[in-house]
Amino acid sequence: MNITELSLAELSEKLHGKELSSVEATKAYFEKINAVDGEIGAYIRLTESVALQQAENADKILAEGKGTALTGVPYGIKDNICTKGSITSCASKMLENFNPPYDAFVTTKMNAENAVMLGKMNMDEFAMGSTTENSAFKVTKNPYDITRVPGGSSGGSAAAVAAKEAVFTLGSDTGGSIRQPAAFCGVVGLKPTYGTVSRNGLVAFASSLDQIGPVARNVEDAAVVLNSIAGHDSLDSTSVNRIYGDFTAEMKNGVKGMKAALPKEYFGEGINPEVRAAVINAANEFEKMGVEIQEVSIPAMEYALPAYYVISSCEASSNLARFDGVRYGYRAENYADMDELYKKTRSEGFGKEVKRRIMLGSFALSAGYYDAYYKKALQVRTLIINGFNSIFENNDFIISPVAPTVAYKIGEKTASPVEMYLGDIYTVPVNIAGLPAISMPCGADKDGMPIGMQLIGKAFSESTLIRAGWAFENR
Ligand code: GLN
Repeated sequence: MNITELSLAELSEKLHGKELSSVEATKAYFEKINAVDGEIGAYIRLTESVALQQAENADKILAEGKGTALTGVPYGIKDNICTKGSITSCASKMLENFNPPYDAFVTTKMNAENAVMLGKMNMDEFAMGSTTENSAFKVTKNPYDITRVPGGSSGGSAAAVAAKEAVFTLGSDTGGSIRQPAAFCGVVGLKPTYGTVSRNGLVAFASSLDQIGPVARNVEDAAVVLNSIAGHDSLDSTSVNRIYGDFTAEMKNGVKGMKAALPKEYFGEGINPEVRAAVINAANEFEKMGVEIQEVSIPAMEYALPAYYVISSCEASSNLARFDGVRYGYRAENYADMDELYKKTRSEGFGKEVKRRIMLGSFALSAGYYDAYYKKALQVRTLIINGFNSIFENNDFIISPVAPTVAYKIGEKTASPVEMYLGDIYTVPVNIAGLPAISMPCGADKDGMPIGMQLIGKAFSESTLIRAGWAFENR
């Protein structure tokens, strides 16, 4: 049996059936990581001793016939999610030695189910980027072609799942950072409705947009992980207190009679023809399964990208003010006074892209420009929310591409930040409106690079998306 080939559902069955122990599975994963991660670079840090300890504990629980679907399952976690006792660096020099005194809500959930943490995943510094090239430490490669980017910012999380270096991983998505790398690496990524997964212990990028979610081998596995991490948390004031239920419960009920929309703005200028064809083809497949497809329009979509970059940078400039060299994180060595301490610490501790966002955000929030930029962006936000709402009055979900292209070459877009930002055009509207979306494979281009499609639903309709995604995967 090739242990690292097993999906979460398959592995869990074997662990509970005592065909395999968690220690064996964990060791198999470290072997795999040792064999391939030198080339892929998905992990920023391994937590081997923690993992083996957790695996032994899991085996005790499993031996008693107890445990859950995640007990003993090896996984990886993005390096902007706090793990007590294990460095959480956000791939930044600023937090290179930051050892969190507490676990994030999702880490606590994983620990409560005795899942096994293999290590922390590489990412763009503070989750700002679309390729992982902004990591202060290393560049992750796309397992399908190591000359190409894995996407970002959760590039390590997606590459690890694609290269079978973890059963699943957790990522974060502020403007597409789970969905776009999932698409580039041919795996499944799920961005939950805003408020479904607590942000407590997720190092903040843009608080009104950030959500944690799973990257997994298939839709079912993503749903199983979501079952574990969804839920109310009094330590996150935006966490929604509701009964989330079992996301796999309706998974196999099929899509017959559902309605899906294709917003024309998602298929316009700038989309690669092969990506377009693959997504349209997927829509046709849904039609064959009994889904009624209709073309719709969200005119405000045109402004989604600039609105996202204004809102996210404004929030980032405020959130990142805490890194001042005084309380924790990096501190410059030589300084004459407090002003110099701040200046030097932030100049030396942050990378180029992070500084760019801080400057952009500070500018847009400054007194003279607030109305012209930030306020305008919030007005666009309302228009986009209204646009989605009107589509969901008559439709169960939206089918769209995830990104305009497949994974591109490492270094191809680093010279032009704006060109890189343009690649986020299809993912950011979902965060602006706080909606759930699944990114899943729907084909490949002529070079064999994966193409992803995105299924978007109204707030708290994850079950519908999972049902549609599962039906597509098992058609
Ligand atoms: N690529 C987008 C950005 O750089 C999204 C990042 C994210 O979702 N964390 O802002």
